[in-house]
Amino acid sequence: MNIGDNILKVRATIPQGVELVAVSKFHPNEAIMEAYEVGQRVFGESRATELKTKASSLPADIQWHFIGHLQTNKVRMIMPYVSLIQSVDSERLLRLINAEAARIDKVVDLLLQVYVAQEETKFGFSPEELVKLVESGALNELSNVRVIGVMGMATNTDDEARIVADFNAIHQTYQRARLLMQNNEVFSQISMGMSDDYALAIKAGSTMVRIGSTIFGNRQY
Ligand SMILES: *Cc1c(COP(=O)(O)O)cnc(C)c1O
Repeated sequence: MNIGDNILKVRATIPQGVELVAVSKFHPNEAIMEAYEVGQRVFGESRATELKTKASSLPADIQWHFIGHLQTNKVRMIMPYVSLIQSVDSERLLRLINAEAARIDKVVDLLLQVYVAQEETKFGFSPEELVKLVESGALNELSNVRVIGVMGMATNTDDEARIVADFNAIHQTYQRARLLMQNNEVFSQISMGMSDDYALAIKAGSTMVRIGSTIFGNRQY
């Protein structure tokens, strides 16, 4: 498994303007450094303690994205290290992130997670909930967060039509929200697409893909 080569191969399949987030969860610092050495600077982690440990010991110019379900009691732990929280899945979490960012005098970027998949144990706002939240104007009162877009996942299935429909639903939710946003220049990101489905996600308008196993191999849980 040559991680550097994998990164370069994946990059060659991603158009300019689509950000590659290398999902390094469950992989050690050495694996991250192999990716770093071919120029990768954006990494995704899904557990707060792991993000903190890695961020404290790896180069400071790495941008860490949090992509997992974030428990409210872990927000403070990641706040100094995180450059983008992709997985904001409730208004309560959103408000807490704003408060914790204010406490350390930081403005943190985030994505609202939209849930469209045909699965039960997933987190996120439904498209209607997300649009209502934006419409309520609540985001404008939160001065320590910048909502720069949405994140979502397609159903975990081999049914390509289902996956495409899910990505289209995420894209459509983004567009509905953008029409309602006051600062719609910063609201510009659609994070969708993982190892198995990122090509379809890019066709459906993704601006940010989150790729783990194609780069780093299988995770040892
Ligand atoms: C783990 C994870 C990924 C990466 O998945 P791969 O299939 O390994 O590419 C992407 N997004 C989220 C939210 C994840 O938790």
